[in-house]
Amino acid sequence: MNYDLLIDLHKGNTRQGPGSDRHTLLAMKLANLVGNKTEIEIADIGCGTGGQTLVLANNCNANITAVDIFNDFLSVLNNKAEEENLLSKIKTKNCSMDALDFQSESLDVIWSEGAIYNIGFENGVRYFNQFLKKGGIFACSEITWLSKNRPHKLTEHWTTEYSEIGTVKEKVEVLSENGLNLIGYFALDESCWMDNYYNNLSASFDKFLERNNHSKEAIEIVDAEKFEIELYQQNKDYFSYGFYIATKE
Ligand code: SAH
Repeated sequence: MNYDLLIDLHKGNTRQGPGSDRHTLLAMKLANLVGNKTEIEIADIGCGTGGQTLVLANNCNANITAVDIFNDFLSVLNNKAEEENLLSKIKTKNCSMDALDFQSESLDVIWSEGAIYNIGFENGVRYFNQFLKKGGIFACSEITWLSKNRPHKLTEHWTTEYSEIGTVKEKVEVLSENGLNLIGYFALDESCWMDNYYNNLSASFDKFLERNNHSKEAIEIVDAEKFEIELYQQNKDYFSYGFYIATKE
């Protein structure tokens, strides 16, 4: 996997996965986080260039640690935080999400949009949970089957890409096995995928290929994205990202 190329393709976009400011805010409301009085500790894990981090910072009283493995994404977030006068609320941290160094049960909120799959949902839920205070909020978005029956080609593609893709029921079971009780759920809508993610990516393909001299690797990356976009457009009723909001017992 050529990470430099992936970063190059994605870092100019406001989000590196499906999502929207409106849906981040909806999840915050379901978690009862909007306009809280006492300052809380939030970790935003796999923050990318910080689309959701800025929404969190703008809508609640919090000290946010935004974690990502790629410095290029974090520096974009730092610049945005500076522009929006949010540097006092957002600290970026370059760290892998499986090697976090928060104190045990020190966080009020663990937030993670479109990123937990990198270490697997089940593993990630179990691992992140140790850093969450009792009564704290766990909120994450994760690719989810919306129906039991699906076209074979779709199941085959996504289970090869990510073996843990599953139904809402399966995801909620993993949460409850870890003492996390669901208090809110919704699925991201089509605009989160197309308007906020895939359309921006598609618009950047030509320049990306030019910048990278139409290298074989760059072409392969674009072709894989185009395949995924087409698959989404043909099958959007069968899967989306589910947004899971839970509290720790
Ligand atoms: N939350 C952002 C980014 C989602 S894309 C958004 O919704 O727009 C997934 C992010 O996870 C990327 O920014 C990627 O750099 C990050 N990532 C991948 N592997 C990681 C790891 N092991 N540790 C921390 N971050 C990781």
